[in-house]
Amino acid sequence: MGKRDYYEVLGVEKSASKDEIKKAYRKLSKKYHPDINKEAGADEKFKEITEAYENLSDEQKRAQYDRFGHAGPNQGFGGGQDFGGFGGFEDIFSTFFGGGRRRDPNAPRQGADLQYSMTISFDEAVFGKETDIQIPKEETCDTCHGTGAKPGTNPETCGHCHGTGELSIEQNTPFGRIVNRQACPYCHGTGKLIKEKCSTCSGDGVVTKNKKIHIKIPAGIDDGQQLRVSGQGEPGVNGGPAGDLFIVFRVLPHELFERDGDDIYCEIPITFVQSALGDEIEVPTIHGKVKLKVPAGTQTGTKFRLRGKGVPNVRGYGTGDQHIRVKIVTPTKLNEKQKHLLREFAEASGEMLDEQEEGFFDKVKRALKRD
Ligand SMILES: [Zn+2]
Ligand SMILES: [Zn+2]
Repeated sequence: MGKRDYYEVLGVEKSASKDEIKKAYRKLSKKYHPDINKEAGADEKFKEITEAYENLSDEQKRAQYDRFGHAGPNQGFGGGQDFGGFGGFEDIFSTFFGGGRRRDPNAPRQGADLQYSMTISFDEAVFGKETDIQIPKEETCDTCHGTGAKPGTNPETCGHCHGTGELSIEQNTPFGRIVNRQACPYCHGTGKLIKEKCSTCSGDGVVTKNKKIHIKIPAGIDDGQQLRVSGQGEPGVNGGPAGDLFIVFRVLPHELFERDGDDIYCEIPITFVQSALGDEIEVPTIHGKVKLKVPAGTQTGTKFRLRGKGVPNVRGYGTGDQHIRVKIVTPTKLNEKQKHLLREFAEASGEMLDEQEEGFFDKVKRALKRD
């Protein structure tokens, strides 16, 4: 089955702004989050949404997707591989190829950095977490210690390029002689030829292993931020140091709370009686329930701040606040007694009512009584 278009998955236009994409993702991921939606297929749908968001929220990936579609140059790395081992993680694995053209093929080079994208819950981002992740990683082959040659033998210097890994090809053109430098096709640019290949790694010098890495997600990490795990990238070449592993976090939206930096925002509904007479209410925070005094005469939209009830700063600079905006809910489905009391209340306030919301039948009944 073909993959659906990422824009289609999120239900946005091709020209959608970053904000529109984020909004669409928030809406859909709330709807299909496996913790919330237990319907069959919700899990698949959630994965599809997350993958679309991961690709469209990253400018580089989005440009690539716009140009190449699903068959982009990164095919084989993306595509939501689930490495398992941890509940509901959607893990995307990709490599960065270290920049620059190599000069000396025999010089030690640092291994490539790896990027690993991890989706975590709102609470995990707030409070941090220690966990093990499993990533497929290339490691130096133990049998040949990375040379690629069968134990007891050694790689030989390539006779075609004399160990430089490059061949110069001269061409005569009407404009003069052009010298083209190419990677040596005999040794594939390594400068070495292996006569008898190591049977463990087939001469590659590296083997792919699922490696378990213990990581500490710091409390307060936010969507898009990354954690560097040094030395856990790809192994170095010719004795060079290993690259680093970068874990980029995607934080799932919360049902109730919105986060902006270290502050948390939420809306709390109160009744008009509470707003008029005042009340002490319980409000949810990520740190548990907190009592909040709503003074008499509170208007809808009034904001309250709970100091220190936000997110701990990821660098340890204190803790954010929780901001509450109250929304006064107008009661619906009033019974006769309630209506009566409200009419009395209006009368006591000197208010003349022309009850618009009165049902058709009530009006008919009253008209009949008058006659
Ligand atoms: Zn080997
Ligand atoms: Zn060569």
